Amino acid sequence: MNYNIDNRGFYGQYGGAYIPEILYKCVHDLQEAYIPILESEEFKREYHALLRDYVGRPSPLYYARRMSEKYGCRLFLKREDLNHTGAHKINNTVGQILLAKKMGKKRIIAETGAGQHGVATATVCALMDMQCEVFMGKTDVERQYTNVQRMRMLGAQVHPVTTGNMTLSDACSQAIRDWCCHPDDTFYIVGSTMGPHPYPDIVARMQSVISEEIKEQLLEKTGRDYPDTLMACIGGGSNAAGTIYHYMNDERVRIILAEAGGKGIDTDYTAATIHRGTLGFIHGAKTLVMQNDDGQIEEAFTISAGLDYPGIGPMHANMAEKKRSTVLAINDDEAIRAGYELTRLEGIIPAIESAHIIAALPKIQFHNDEIVVLTVSGRGDKDINTYLDNKQMAGEYANNL
Ligand SMILES: *Cc1c(COP(=O)(O)O)cnc(C)c1O
Repeated sequence: MNYNIDNRGFYGQYGGAYIPEILYKCVHDLQEAYIPILESEEFKREYHALLRDYVGRPSPLYYARRMSEKYGCRLFLKREDLNHTGAHKINNTVGQILLAKKMGKKRIIAETGAGQHGVATATVCALMDMQCEVFMGKTDVERQYTNVQRMRMLGAQVHPVTTGNMTLSDACSQAIRDWCCHPDDTFYIVGSTMGPHPYPDIVARMQSVISEEIKEQLLEKTGRDYPDTLMACIGGGSNAAGTIYHYMNDERVRIILAEAGGKGIDTDYTAATIHRGTLGFIHGAKTLVMQNDDGQIEEAFTISAGLDYPGIGPMHANMAEKKRSTVLAINDDEAIRAGYELTRLEGIIPAIESAHIIAALPKIQFHNDEIVVLTVSGRGDKDINTYLDNKQMAGEYANNL
């Protein structure tokens, strides 16, 4: 079985490019241009130089001794939390801004929910001296105000979006509307393995540096270049795509992913799209979507702003359907407790998004000496208040709080 994208831009039945006619030429140009550019020696040289000198790659692969003892496996953490700006998202924005430049675009737009992708985009726009406009739901502007201030300090213009629920999917719709008005000079930097083809493939390729490094680092540390099990959290699916990219078609490697269960998949307060979604359309792609019977998109709910998305990347919808991946829904309280656990056992405060996959560890059977690589997608500095406000969920780690 091949789980990669096909030449029509689909992963099984998911994906494609369902876009307004006015964007047809600009999306078609991107479909034609991206592979030759990404595979050119010039692009690779500039991209890898920036990843090394600006982002701080390779990110360490760290053997977590105390967590390994606790869970009866050999657990390695892929430390994306140590990247510049604190998460994996910059791997993608660095690559897409180079792509935009090579395509002669002058103006960058992006959507953002929690503001993490907006900050990563504003950062590379400052670096490359490009005009940057970020669309963000008004509700999110208010609840993620420090990220708004970071974006403005970096020189970006932040547009609060007041349609719908005023959150991420409304910001995406507004970004697409803006793109329709400026298809010639504007490049839309999409933040996850979402959107019309070729975006899911572009983002997966930009993040694939994660598994490229895992291969080399595992070989050096264990004498073998593949793990038994790979683990990552999924919002739209980009850090997971990067983590599994070079192992997707290698059936020796088990893939376990965690989506945000919110208050539980049996409640209305969940973001677990793979468990709860149905086939539909969101932001130009055919995929699993949380929607009502009329196809109206329903808002996702989770304590974690970065997983708060009512769709899922088409690659992941396909792999889950074909049982290539196992997807667990992790609830808010489990994620918070797991965040405290990693903090107390290894001295690493993870992003709440990343804490979701850590919470999957006690739910999995490992055989002794099993090699597990778990991606810590981001650092938890942004989430300290959420952790402390929910300290009643810290369980056995509540002492001294
Ligand atoms: C945005 C974000 C995620 C979710 O996005 P993916 O595209 O699914 O990777 C996960 N972790 C962190 C730290 C994030 O900022």
